[in-house]
Amino acid sequence: MSDVFDLTCALIARPSVTPDDAGCQQLIGGRLAAAGFHCEHLRLGEVDNLWATHGSGAPVLVLLGHTDVVPSGPAEQWASEPFTPVVREGVLYGRGAADMKGSVAAFVVAAEQFVAAHPQHPGTLAVLLTSDEEGDAIDGVRHVARLFRERGQGIDWCITGEPSSTARLGDLLRVGRRGSLSAKLRVKGVQGHVAYPDKARNPIHLAASALAELTARHWDDGYESFPPTSLQVSNINAGTGANNVIPGELQVMFNLRYNPHWNADQLEAEITALLDRHHLDYELNWHRSGEPFYTPEGRLRSVAREVLAGFAGTPPEESTGGGTSDARFIAPLGAQCIEVGPVNASIHQVDENVRVADLEALPALYQRLIERLLA
Ligand SMILES: [Zn+2]
Repeated sequence: MSDVFDLTCALIARPSVTPDDAGCQQLIGGRLAAAGFHCEHLRLGEVDNLWATHGSGAPVLVLLGHTDVVPSGPAEQWASEPFTPVVREGVLYGRGAADMKGSVAAFVVAAEQFVAAHPQHPGTLAVLLTSDEEGDAIDGVRHVARLFRERGQGIDWCITGEPSSTARLGDLLRVGRRGSLSAKLRVKGVQGHVAYPDKARNPIHLAASALAELTARHWDDGYESFPPTSLQVSNINAGTGANNVIPGELQVMFNLRYNPHWNADQLEAEITALLDRHHLDYELNWHRSGEPFYTPEGRLRSVAREVLAGFAGTPPEESTGGGTSDARFIAPLGAQCIEVGPVNASIHQVDENVRVADLEALPALYQRLIERLLA
């Protein structure tokens, strides 16, 4: 089997459930150091990060990935052991096969081959890996980006290997991501007997009109290739379980996925004003997962379009869909960011997998991108 296949299997066999790196970055750092990369292992809290560079100065091209994986879930539901790589009918199975140990292995092989062919390339080729993408994402790339800012480390282009493809390798180029903002709302009332509502204050009734307005609100019509901003209530809880008790409190959780029309400050201010208009007694706790980012037409996007079209036969769909990724922390440094990776149909699922043929094509795809940008 090929180098990228063997390396992917070696990474899958390390059960690096977030934020445990389980030795993945030592293995990768050893290989990149042998290829002439300067490797810096940044242990931040519980999290391992690897910053490996070759060459110096601008332009700086970063290959961004993560070595951690989500938990396997019940192992008995898998057709084979989640952390034992197995091939069945041309498909490699194992936790992380698609998200994103295959891409990380392909980064390493592509980087090795590129610097062997172009030892004096202009600028800097860098690989940035973290073991905290799937978890809290606090001491991972978020923290590393802060260090970069302090050091004045610029980044021109960033290619994230997140599994972006939908049906065929290279059929989709991700050029941005929506922002994500979560909230926990506690609406306070006064508990009492349902037969004596005048002696109680029902937080469900008090909140109902505010929630109706919140969920019916039209936020925007979308932004360039972004879909409209959406608010979804994910949890709602109140009541003691008894049918004769007015509860004293209502708890609601909701999340917004938003496009660059908005930032978190503006959304929080809008929603706070809405709740205040309904005269609620409430507590509201926000969690900002990341602002949206968008890479408009430019060198990185046009190069990637051409390379992917050469691979897939037709130009890729250019999309901003999906969840968030660590590119949200790199984009604010002024970098153009794209995401290109294998088919994402099985990620985070039981029997996660990648087609062996796709895996073996990935290093050449990344190498062509690097060559177009740095050779
Ligand atoms: Zn991922």
